[in-house]
Amino acid sequence: MLPAYKHKHEYLQPAESKKPELRLIPGGALDLFTCPNISGNLRLTKAGCATQFISAQKANIETSLQLMHCQSCSIGEVNAGIKATPVLPKICVRCEHNSFRRLCGKLLCLSCYNRAREKVIGRNARGSTPIRFIPLHIFDYADSLIVVGRDKPEALRVVNAMTGNNSLKPEKLIDYGVATPSEINHWWRAIVLPWSAKRTNRASIKI
Ligand SMILES: [Zn+2]
Repeated sequence: MLPAYKHKHEYLQPAESKKPELRLIPGGALDLFTCPNISGNLRLTKAGCATQFISAQKANIETSLQLMHCQSCSIGEVNAGIKATPVLPKICVRCEHNSFRRLCGKLLCLSCYNRAREKVIGRNARGSTPIRFIPLHIFDYADSLIVVGRDKPEALRVVNAMTGNNSLKPEKLIDYGVATPSEINHWWRAIVLPWSAKRTNRASIKI
């Protein structure tokens, strides 16, 4: 007769047979957690979080809104085991607020861009003519760069953003008066968009 413990042993499941259940969710079921930074109580694995965090570090913030929350996330840093790349503040040249999303044409926050666009097309979201829009002026800096802005300080911020020149001289800025909607549109299309479409964030206009 075989010893009793040998009979018992036959009925025990090998330890390995339970593991596949835990592996049903990639990264391991026990790794699941609720992300506090993405709305909707999103549950994701630590491995999934790490992948998303690493993609967010490489992504261009201007094109990747869905990874915005992951970009400087401290949980992502722990799960991925790397430090977040610092995100430079994106200050709108017009309202001077930090835009955590993207700057249209690398200059304006979405709100300021929309107000200017309404002025250009002559109607707002309600279909009426925008009347509270503060007029924009055309400026010329050093006889070489045309910019549009509400006042000289804004115009200098635009010149600074486009050229990277931090030692601009306000006396070199000439105000040519109020810009018409079509002039605003032309400036945006002919100067801002070609400049902002360049892949580099560095200034690319020489003055
Ligand atoms: Zn703004």
